Amino acid sequence: MLWTLSSNERLVYMNKNLRSAVIAGNWKMNKTPDEATALINEIKPLVADAGCKVIVGVPFIDIPAALEATKGSNIAVSAQNCYWKESGAFTGEVSAKMLKTMGVEYCILGHSERRTYFGDTDATVNQRTLGAIEAGLTAIVCVGETLSQREQGITNELVAMQTKIALGGVSAEQLSQIIIAYEPVWAIGTGKTATAEQANEVCAVIRATLAEIYGREAADGVTIQYGGSMNAGNAEELLAQPDVDGGLIGGASLKAPDFAKIVEAASK
Ligand code: PEP
Repeated sequence: MLWTLSSNERLVYMNKNLRSAVIAGNWKMNKTPDEATALINEIKPLVADAGCKVIVGVPFIDIPAALEATKGSNIAVSAQNCYWKESGAFTGEVSAKMLKTMGVEYCILGHSERRTYFGDTDATVNQRTLGAIEAGLTAIVCVGETLSQREQGITNELVAMQTKIALGGVSAEQLSQIIIAYEPVWAIGTGKTATAEQANEVCAVIRATLAEIYGREAADGVTIQYGGSMNAGNAEELLAQPDVDGGLIGGASLKAPDFAKIVEAASK
């Protein structure tokens, strides 16, 4: 599916009546608990009037500090991974239920760094997703192609397949606990951003895939983010795309003023 939009058409903002805009920071393996508190305290006043959902995705050890620092604010806390079993002999893992018990609301799953360095596959992303929603978390499920896959022209099929596998067994009712993040692997942490047209095209493919499975109305209600070197300078154009409902932000989420600028762009 190719989208050829004129520059005027490009400034059609997402329909906030259908779904909410969500800006989530992915802090990756950064910040000690004290540093997390300091960063959240810096972000809080800057996003207090946000017209979108604001989330910070912190390392496991920062979760208590982040929950404390965000108390009474409009910022929600996300983990960056979870295991699907509730408890047991799974050394080094943290269950979705444990996160939920602490007060965590969101969990990033299937991030390309987890797929590349820690052996996550489409099948384990599906299990983690089912575990997360079963525990009552909202899963931020990451999908996206590598540069060579884009060059082979298989981006749309690949992303549709990743989406279908990740959501296997997820019911239409549970879709309210799903956010999809389209994150082209070649754009993550590289400073290379997908063009607004590329981002919108793939987000629209993801929405069409959801519509195939769950119907158009349900698909229209799902928040689909773009992630990959989104920053204070390019956020507005990316977020102006009709199928881009927010962002998953890595590097720029560690700088409060930049993160706040992205939140501001999503609030328009
Ligand atoms: C990410 O980690 O999900 C991400 C998009 O990183 P960055 O914004 O740094 O590219």
